[in-house]
Amino acid sequence: MRLMAGDTVLMAHFNHRRGDNGVWSTVCRLHEGRCKPDDAGRCIEYCARIGSTRCSKRDIFYKALGRKIALERALMHLPRMTRKLLWLSYWAQTPVAKLPKAVPHAA
Ligand SMILES: [Zn+2]
Repeated sequence: MRLMAGDTVLMAHFNHRRGDNGVWSTVCRLHEGRCKPDDAGRCIEYCARIGSTRCSKRDIFYKALGRKIALERALMHLPRMTRKLLWLSYWAQTPVAKLPKAVPHAA
């Protein structure tokens, strides 16, 4: 996904993985410039900005929420206005996530 804020153009890659213990995690990697695909088509460009998040065992996994939190963390140290524009760019390309109003937890 290409995110733009004025002259700043970042490529964002998201990866969702379920660990051996059944817990999901999401990693967001950001880099400037063009992607550098390997033979399998996966981008191997160096990513200076990385954000990640992991569900707790009681959480229900939602891809959209994982992406949002991981991106939030990857953008954390950028200037406020740049972050704001990058989020506008993100939401322009991402349908608003449908999340339940209350997430049930096991007792
Ligand atoms: Zn890339």
